Amino acid sequence: ALDLGIDFKVKSDLKFSDVGGMEQVKDDIRMKIIHPLKNPDLFAAYGKKAGGGVLLYGPPGCGKTLMAQATAGEIDATFLAVGLHQILDMYMGESEQKLHKIFELARKSRPSVLFFDETDALAADRRDMRQSAGRTLVNQFLSELDGAQAQNDDLLILGATNAPWQLDSAFLRPGRFDRIIFVPPPDRAAREEIAKIHAKGKPLADFDPADVAKRTEGFSGADLKAVFDQATEAALTEAMRKGNMVPVTGKMLANAAKNVKPSTKKW
Ligand code: ATP
Repeated sequence: ALDLGIDFKVKSDLKFSDVGGMEQVKDDIRMKIIHPLKNPDLFAAYGKKAGGGVLLYGPPGCGKTLMAQATAGEIDATFLAVGLHQILDMYMGESEQKLHKIFELARKSRPSVLFFDETDALAADRRDMRQSAGRTLVNQFLSELDGAQAQNDDLLILGATNAPWQLDSAFLRPGRFDRIIFVPPPDRAAREEIAKIHAKGKPLADFDPADVAKRTEGFSGADLKAVFDQATEAALTEAMRKGNMVPVTGKMLANAAKNVKPSTKKW
């Protein structure tokens, strides 16, 4: 599948419980995707159905990809992830073909969640997007989106971007990416949840998730993961030196939190 520019295609076993915080985002996705899939008749009676696209936007490292994977896991769908830059880097004509093949593969793998990372690559103000090669790709993408909408309800399309306002507005019309959901930097309560998730399966001592949350103002979920990775390395190094199991301590986490730079300050 690699030559399709698809990073991977899997049955996702991640669930919403693997994503810390984001209660609003989870509610939005339940209402837009999960409930309509599970109660199609009820939703049809109100003139609503599953499908269409959802655009997730927000600072890097705050769980957009994770959320897309968890959405697939919640509905037991195949998860396909595509980096748009990979497709854009191909020769003219080739990119459109790849894009079409990717949509075909997603249709064949239904129920599926097709996730496009780096949707910024389609930004309206990029010079290569205004030139004819870029236009053809944009048009191909739009027609695939419309086709997905017309042909089936079991193909869900999620896109991630750091800057939705840069997207060609044609993408945002009804039936395309018609819902835009902000994935915010985690607040203190969310950081506490994320800390618990990253702590799972590790030997711990004096671990206080609230304390980690307090020390990590402005940290993204990915920054928090880096904190746990560093602290775990410290514990492992000591364990090897001593020839004994050494737990990851609250102090190691506090030290690691001092080393990792918060990346979401400007949001
Ligand atoms: P980018 O815009 O850079 O693609 P992203 O928003 O898609 O970033 P992810 O790739 O989902 O971010 O997050 C990177 C990693 O950070 C995740 O694999 C996970 O380990 C951790 N992470 C981020 N947000 C959360 C969260 N809310 N709960 C748990 N882990 C998180």
